[in-house]
Amino acid sequence: MYTVTDPATGELIEKIENATEEEIREAIDRVHRGYQSWRRRTVAERAEIVARAADLFAARAGELAATMTQEMGKRINEGRGEIGVVTDIFRYYADNAEALLADEPLEIRGGRAVITKNPIGPLLGVMPWNFPCYQVARFAAPNLVLGNTILLKHASICPRSAVAIERILHEAGVPEDAYVNIFAASSQIPGMLADPRIQGVSLTGSERAGISVAAEAGKNLKKAVLELGGSDPLIVLDTDDLDQTVRATATARMRNCGQSCNAPKRMIVLAGVYEEFVDRLTEYVAETFVPGDPSDPATKLPPLASVAAADEVAGQVAKAIKQGATLRTGGRRVDGPGAFLEATVLTDVTPEMDVYYEEVFGPVVLVLRAETEEEAIAIANDSPFGLGASVWGTDPERLRRVAEQIESGMVYLNSAGGSQADLPFGGIKRSGMGRELGPAGIEEFMNKKSIRL
Ligand code: NAP
Repeated sequence: MYTVTDPATGELIEKIENATEEEIREAIDRVHRGYQSWRRRTVAERAEIVARAADLFAARAGELAATMTQEMGKRINEGRGEIGVVTDIFRYYADNAEALLADEPLEIRGGRAVITKNPIGPLLGVMPWNFPCYQVARFAAPNLVLGNTILLKHASICPRSAVAIERILHEAGVPEDAYVNIFAASSQIPGMLADPRIQGVSLTGSERAGISVAAEAGKNLKKAVLELGGSDPLIVLDTDDLDQTVRATATARMRNCGQSCNAPKRMIVLAGVYEEFVDRLTEYVAETFVPGDPSDPATKLPPLASVAAADEVAGQVAKAIKQGATLRTGGRRVDGPGAFLEATVLTDVTPEMDVYYEEVFGPVVLVLRAETEEEAIAIANDSPFGLGASVWGTDPERLRRVAEQIESGMVYLNSAGGSQADLPFGGIKRSGMGRELGPAGIEEFMNKKSIRL
């Protein structure tokens, strides 16, 4: 069942039945049929359509943001910001399509060859609720430009975003059979992956969903891209502007109410600045991130996406405190029907506590103390995840040296985990496999065909 529940009020707004097996078969027929003609369009034609999609997303930013606020509680201003990034992703792939998909001549021993860039067929996308439009854009824009077709199963709490995205793509000129939204249950995914016409799957979501989808993809010998969870370290080596460092790092952690895969969930602070940093961070978080109505532009901390999500994060915090962590601020669910949780700072977190190795998907900062640079790096790498990381400090050489030693797919220096259209995004270890965005993102479901001339 797909359900729209306003997380700010608890009001149930809409329920939609899951697709039947018959509807799923028809949807696969459609993307298979659609592929036969979509792949034959020229790159320039597909790019023009994708560019129109960018314009339509920009024009509907307000509506889309309001839909996300209602479905998963995103702050209205953050929703608009998300659509800005979506627009940029569609534009990037439209503008660079010809260059990214140009043949590559290759000198080989005894002759010449050329590598041509071809689509592979209909793909399944399985997407999460935390950035309902951005996550789909990362997958859809490059693959549509390339000539693949898409069957999209969105998260079951944001069906309205799913429908709005499909409508925009069709209005932009993507054929109805080249992008199809399907309200499938996750239990129907194995059947979809077993269909020989589906050539690959891209899942953004939890580790649990990734394991299940990767297993089914493997069983059926299908390519899988997995963008999974993270518990990104943020290392503070030193600072010449404590207030600015605290503001920037806390804001990065609290973005999207702490529900970003690549938020800096573990702040690892060197002893020289640790005490001052914790005091200032606690003060700033408590006074700034006050829970409020997500449709009010002045609000800094919206609800989590659902009551279940808020309860889960509150449970992780309570368990950490029971196991010995120190609560500096926050920690409580806000009374009332919504999915609100106070912004929380925990210190004295040790490897003996469950929370040390878990992903905390909510407005919670874990602050850990390191005596030396080496210890900070060791703590950063002591995680099952390896998505992003950031290093903060005043010496560029030192920042670079630390960045080189971090086990993650991405590292940011003196900024924390944004995302931009031309920079590859993805992780290692239990954060997944493969990359989205940039030139790497268009190659995941590409047949790079070698033609020996
Ligand atoms: P989720 O529960 O795993 O759901 C993601 C998608 O997978 C939804 O469409 C969901 O469908 C489906 N799904 C759930 N269980 C499944 C299963 N066993 N088999 C197949 N599909 C399944 O994740 P979420 O709670 O929406 O998103 C939060 C997670 O996503 C966090 O861990 C976050 O770090 C991660 N994330 C990663 C990235 C990245 O780029 N690395 C980006 C954003 C989020 P239903 O809704 O129908 O259950």
